[in-house]
Amino acid sequence: MKINKCYSTKKNYVFTEIAQKVESFKQNHPNQKIYNLGIGDVTLPLDTKLVDVMEKALKEQTAKDTFKGYPPETGYDFLKNAIVCTYAQMGIDISIEEVFVSNGAGCDVTNILNLFKDVTSVIADPTYPAYYDSNALCGNDVVLLPLNKSNNYKMSPKNLSCDKSYLIYICSPNNPTGVTLSHDDLDEWVTFANLTKSIILFDNAYQCFIEDNSPKSIFEIDGAKSCAIEIASFSKCAGFTNLRCGYTVVPKSLIRQDMSLNVMWKRHQSTFFNGVPYHIQKGAEFVLTGEGQEICKKNIDYYKQNAKILRQHLLSSKYELLPSNNSPYVWMKIPDGATSWEHFESLLQSYGIVCIPGSGFGKSGEGYIRLSAFAKREDILEACKMLI
Ligand code: PLP
Repeated sequence: MKINKCYSTKKNYVFTEIAQKVESFKQNHPNQKIYNLGIGDVTLPLDTKLVDVMEKALKEQTAKDTFKGYPPETGYDFLKNAIVCTYAQMGIDISIEEVFVSNGAGCDVTNILNLFKDVTSVIADPTYPAYYDSNALCGNDVVLLPLNKSNNYKMSPKNLSCDKSYLIYICSPNNPTGVTLSHDDLDEWVTFANLTKSIILFDNAYQCFIEDNSPKSIFEIDGAKSCAIEIASFSKCAGFTNLRCGYTVVPKSLIRQDMSLNVMWKRHQSTFFNGVPYHIQKGAEFVLTGEGQEICKKNIDYYKQNAKILRQHLLSSKYELLPSNNSPYVWMKIPDGATSWEHFESLLQSYGIVCIPGSGFGKSGEGYIRLSAFAKREDILEACKMLI
């Protein structure tokens, strides 16, 4: 047996590191109020209607006739059908066998690596750190695509070799920059992926924040079904960060080296995953109804308003931000040349404000911080008074 030495890295997962630093700050400053604009966790409570639906489903477990044991590994048909209908409303034809219900996007976007060997992954810099970290822990080769002013903070396949196939991570709107890829941008990626037999992992965890006509699904792009997997989550759109539910769509037409990725993912999930509890899936099904969507919209609008307040305030205070109305995050340039960890420390020590240092999302995030609008409104307003 050989131990996977990739785990010997001293570097923690950035959100774990932040949580530890905030905890130790709290212990040393018990009277300091903390304004948490750091980890992108939702703060609004669940709607009582949603909880009623889940409670009713949980009570079914008390009766002989409605008790349920292990859930199906790929999800109950009622939820998968609701997901298929949601795609149909967007004009996208997905079949029930292509939907895999999961306990969140985070697990799927990392566990999917089990389907590949000798991978070269293509990852934006900066982006959601789990993409890079999961690849690093598997010892995979990674090509980082720096996002900067010269490419409008958008990743493009222009500098990649056409003689190689890649696993390409696309997060749109991107965490942390908030930049969304357009139809044309994604078209370029889909063309490249089909040409090179690459696979796109499209993470649309923040699609509910898109307010312009940017694609909300990779399957809006012609040709995506032969090269893309979509990973989605109920966490940010419906407040499921604790309940845990998401889904992954693996098209049947996604074939590589004579293997069906759809069949492989089914095999993977039935071996490595035990499914999502019945009452949670009932809650997720409710979220996808008209009534559920209305309820979610209220919370999404609240977070969007938070982001607007934060952006307007910072712009009027002459901070440099990346323009984006499609994201719950504000990506802010640090004005005085400090490193992003130094600025993190300074905001924490001076005001009790928690942010995420940009370098935690990749080298090219150095010189920036990310502020989360998932915070409470009063914390956003207080933080604005201090960030002047
Ligand atoms: N993908 C992105 C881009 C995220 O930012 C996050 C969480 O912040 C996730 C996935 C994880 O989502 P989930 O809570 O569904 O695991």
